[in-house]
Amino acid sequence: MKPIDLRSDTVTQPTAAMRAAMAAAPLGDDVFGDDPSINALQEKVAGLLGFKAALFVPTGTQGNLCAILAHCQRGDEYIVGQMQHCYRWEGGGAAVFGSVQPQPLDHQPDGSLALADIEAAIKPDDPHFARTRLLALENTLGGKVLPLAYLEQATALARSRGLATHLDGARLFNAAVAQAAAKDARPAAGPPQGGTAPSGGSDPHAVGERGGAYLEAWRIARHFDSVSVCFSKGLGAPVGSALCGSKELIARARRIRKMAGGGMRQSGMLAAAAHHALDHQVERLAQDHALAGRLADALQGITGLQVEAPQTNILFVDLVGPARERSAALLEHLARNGVLATGLYRLRFVTHLDVDARGVDRAAAVIRSFFGA
Ligand SMILES: *Cc1c(COP(=O)(O)O)cnc(C)c1O
Repeated sequence: MKPIDLRSDTVTQPTAAMRAAMAAAPLGDDVFGDDPSINALQEKVAGLLGFKAALFVPTGTQGNLCAILAHCQRGDEYIVGQMQHCYRWEGGGAAVFGSVQPQPLDHQPDGSLALADIEAAIKPDDPHFARTRLLALENTLGGKVLPLAYLEQATALARSRGLATHLDGARLFNAAVAQAAAKDARPAAGPPQGGTAPSGGSDPHAVGERGGAYLEAWRIARHFDSVSVCFSKGLGAPVGSALCGSKELIARARRIRKMAGGGMRQSGMLAAAAHHALDHQVERLAQDHALAGRLADALQGITGLQVEAPQTNILFVDLVGPARERSAALLEHLARNGVLATGLYRLRFVTHLDVDARGVDRAAAVIRSFFGA
């Protein structure tokens, strides 16, 4: 039987409709700027998120690298969370390639960085210190949605101290879909608060007419000077991310992408997959969230497991007490029974396009059987 792969939402296969969109994409040479599918995608994502420009990059890692190096010079530093991808999971790229020093901070239980910690980490203008130049946040972080009010406060603080702001929004649309669902659940929510809808994009109706999740994505993104999004996670494209920002920032990012070897040629095929994902696979993320919740529910009450209620598509389950000693045996049991997950004492299960309720139920049954539950 095909394994139930809950290691990551990156494992998905492109759907038949996505493959058809890729095959039909008009192509050009994007290094010359004339791949129509790339240009259409960049305009689309910039417009959706309320930015003037966007840049397609092969990976989220390269998108973050381009962002940090476009915001910072050698000898600058960026404030970042210990668990954020652009600090912990990118091989130290900003330091290695850009001589930009990270200033990591511990996270609060909700995933945020305490405002007081951010404030305290901003260095005075003194030759002893690196120049604090950028605040980088991530949403969702480990599947947690950072509250909108927090994003507003943290970015306002950064701005007031002359820092630029970057959001690693690899799973921005998961955050947006969860935020939209929370709003729908509140009966008297009223009209959206805050600024006006974006007008910069090629499709002025993109946000208003297409419902809650797109609007919420824009409401998150508008607090930042730059935002990166991944198409190859829950959105189900095979490859690619986009970095959004001002025209000037994206021009600098384009030079860095070239230096990093990310200037691609007939990459419109990849852009077409991303475009298809943006059109057809955003609202669908709600199903992934429901499935993560379903798995969490099925694992409640097993002695030795501590289940953290998932906010989006990532479920963490801690082994506690004597069960910790059985961790290796549990992973072996899972693998033997066709359930793939990551972690050791803290297991991570990620739901996505290529798992359904039956798969989740089977995974739950395999886990329960290990504990005799
Ligand atoms: C996956 C991910 C990235 C980028 O990953 P790539 O594998 O380089 O595409 C960046 N940030 C976050 C938060 C991620 O989850």
